[in-house]
Amino acid sequence: MLLITCPWCGPRDDNEFHYGGEAHIARPLKASELSDAEWAEYLFLKQNAKGPFTERWSHSAGCRRWFNVVRNTATDEIIEVYPMGELPKSAEGIKAYETNWRRESAAQKNAKAGASDK
Ligand SMILES: [Zn+2]
Repeated sequence: MLLITCPWCGPRDDNEFHYGGEAHIARPLKASELSDAEWAEYLFLKQNAKGPFTERWSHSAGCRRWFNVVRNTATDEIIEVYPMGELPKSAEGIKAYETNWRRESAAQKNAKAGASDK
């Protein structure tokens, strides 16, 4: 059993939650400009980290709200819970975010390029 602390409801058993995959994946803003290989990278390639990893979770059997979690995938330790739209604040969370290979993925670069156009 994994005890997850929902930011709104408090600690609950993990069977109340739905795993939403890796957090902080930027959706391409100019999807039509991605090659097939770059699009496939965005859709299908995921990081499979051993250790601290940024994830999205939903309290699906409770308040149904989404939030981010830094979880050690080797030990299941929950290092940090933080709101959607924010970045991790713990040292392990910051490192997991900054060393994620997606920071340099084609989709990430494309999203940054679109954001700077505004
Ligand atoms: Zn909740």
